[in-house]
Amino acid sequence: MNYADSERIASVLEKIGYKKSSDIEKADLILVNMCSVRQSAVDRVFGIATRFKELKTKNYKLTLRQAQGDGERSRTIKTILTGCVLKKDKIKFKKKFDLISDIKDLPRLPQILNTKYSIFNNQDYLKIKPKYQNKFSAFVPIMTGCNNFCSYCVVPYTRGQEISRPTKELLSEIKNLIRKGFKEIWLLGQNVNSYVSRIDTNMATNFTNDISDICAQISENSRVINFPKLLKMVNEITGNFWIRFTSSHPKDFSDELIDAMANCKKVTEYLNLPVQSGDDEILKKMNRPYTIKKYKEIVRKIRNKIPGISLSTDIIVGFPGETKKHFENSVKLLKEIKYDMAYIAKYSPRAGTIASKLKDDVSIKEKGRRYKILTEILKKTALEKNKQYIGKEVEVLVESRKSDVEGGNYILFGKTRTYKTVKLQTTNCKLQTNLVGQFVKIKILGVLPWGLKGILV
Ligand code: SAH
Ligand code: SF4
Repeated sequence: MNYADSERIASVLEKIGYKKSSDIEKADLILVNMCSVRQSAVDRVFGIATRFKELKTKNYKLTLRQAQGDGERSRTIKTILTGCVLKKDKIKFKKKFDLISDIKDLPRLPQILNTKYSIFNNQDYLKIKPKYQNKFSAFVPIMTGCNNFCSYCVVPYTRGQEISRPTKELLSEIKNLIRKGFKEIWLLGQNVNSYVSRIDTNMATNFTNDISDICAQISENSRVINFPKLLKMVNEITGNFWIRFTSSHPKDFSDELIDAMANCKKVTEYLNLPVQSGDDEILKKMNRPYTIKKYKEIVRKIRNKIPGISLSTDIIVGFPGETKKHFENSVKLLKEIKYDMAYIAKYSPRAGTIASKLKDDVSIKEKGRRYKILTEILKKTALEKNKQYIGKEVEVLVESRKSDVEGGNYILFGKTRTYKTVKLQTTNCKLQTNLVGQFVKIKILGVLPWGLKGILV
């Protein structure tokens, strides 16, 4: 989400005359788009802010020298902090940055910077056309904010209430991307399952080509577009591309969504389904309204309808009051589900959240131990899953290319539909020059816990 926001920030700055600088010392404007989900991210911004102070002192010296006539050019460094910032950190960062600006105020940035432009006045910031950093894979936020208030999480406080973008706007944006040759579309939301947009009566007539039929068909039965319906519409857009999405909350993961995923050919066989804990008591304290039994039931249905789907999760270790017994249930769950990937986090108290009022009673050392245990299990299950790919031919979207100094050939990196990283050793130099951003067929010859190795077929 922050990455997508940064692409919109870059677009605004370019429109008002700024150019990307590769040297922070020469930059006229430094904008930090921060994340507050865990304290480690906030600490990093503190580190960066200290560096700005050094730059400013240097700049001050330059100004003085210039006044004394040694001719060096001086600049006023402008530093701006935006993104997800906690209230308490806003106070701390106030001294370190010239300005703290809410991401939703992005359309007003030209005025804030005292430029003559007022191009984005009163516009919703998500309507700003992003400057995509990638030519074949695009992040498309379908909504912003979150209403779920999981007890440990800052997002509802920093991003505010859930707001879904109109379906029509999203379809136009995605159609445009596909026309430009994009191959992968990520639909983003804190919980995409709660996407909701009221239908525009003219929608079907507005799309006279590829998606008009599906729009008409859907609008005949319902005035409301939910996430599965949105998937079906995006799936009808003409072109060879993949649809991915994240995140999905288990509390409202519907059968309709499972069916849509199974039936839409462009929706890839990958799902991030954050569980957060393997223990019902902890889930309750986290304000995650589902049980492990219910979670496993969803996984069973998904695996049944979408064989070979690759599954990842988010899980927190050391939530307040998580005893060894509670933790054992997370261990059990990881062993049972056999995830392809898991994003494991050590609990980090966030000011203002409900959980921050509970005692952070699992020591850093114990959090580390639990983190390691889960990582080891994941390594085994991921490797086990990856072994099933050996000898198979899979479709891969090539993402990058490195030259292999020794062999004189290139090494390509890409992703399968199931979101597995593939390393490709190739022998024909000429061939690989144009493959980044393209789909290729790969034969898998070897596996590691965190990826696959193969050759072009
Ligand atoms: N909307 C997504 C998660 C967004 S935050 C969802 O509900 O799944 C991304 C991940 O950061 C979360 O899934 C969680 O595992 C982790 N996280 C959030 N707050 C945290 C905290 N206070 N301490 C540690 N990890 C946290
Ligand atoms: Fe945070 Fe929960 Fe919302 Fe995800 S669903 S963003 S974890 S409050």
